Amino acid sequence: MKKIIITKKVIIANWKINPLTEKKAKKLFGDTVGGFKNSENIELVICPPDIYLPLFKNHSQKVKLGAQDCFWKKGGAYTGEISPDILKNYGISYVILGHSERRINLKETDIMIAQKIKIAQSAGLKTILCVGENAAQKRQRNTFSVIKKQLTESLSLLGKSKLSGLIIAYEPVWAIGPGDPCPRETALIAMANIKAMLVKLFGENGANIPILYGGSVDATNANNYLENDGFDGLLIGGASLNGKEMTKIFSSIVG
Ligand code: PEP
Repeated sequence: MKKIIITKKVIIANWKINPLTEKKAKKLFGDTVGGFKNSENIELVICPPDIYLPLFKNHSQKVKLGAQDCFWKKGGAYTGEISPDILKNYGISYVILGHSERRINLKETDIMIAQKIKIAQSAGLKTILCVGENAAQKRQRNTFSVIKKQLTESLSLLGKSKLSGLIIAYEPVWAIGPGDPCPRETALIAMANIKAMLVKLFGENGANIPILYGGSVDATNANNYLENDGFDGLLIGGASLNGKEMTKIFSSIVG
């Protein structure tokens, strides 16, 4: 009999620095998990501010937890940073790296991100690398050269044998936040380009690296990015702060 391989779609909820109280964080988590029924076809990863991680650690087997960043050292004298090994040893499964808000606000470079990816992958975290062009780069038709540089430099310290758990999120910076999502066809062209670049970097194994879409995803457009050989999942910011919207997103994802 032919083996049926069911690949789950990966949905990352990036709470950023929200909500502002523990009570609201617990409510949001409860609402999100309460509306999550389709764990057989979705891997749900909630990335709250680190300080809330202990609240949810043993809460639900259905949900994985992620951090929004980590440092490029295992430990030592690095005030204010969080080590990938501490996250992993604590039971955290995923980490988001290279988010555009960190590139912009904290001046993170691809070389810094490369060091973080290397050490996060070797700690055993699943690493989500965010790439994508900003509005000016899009206007200048530089989308693919920008993504190429981000992928090439950020993944430069990773050997071919260290790809397990690596995920790429295509997040056009201009689409993050304002409710101006990237059209599906445009996003799919970027996805195909990213896949081709990954194959160039890593050979055939590169083709198996999951690629997510992020940027103004909500219940009206979520499945659009996934269906018919679309993306392998979604990275969701604003909508992930609304349990009801997340419930609608989950039920819109068919298979
Ligand atoms: C994000 O922060 O990565 C993101 C995609 O945000 P939003 O869904 O709000 O556009």
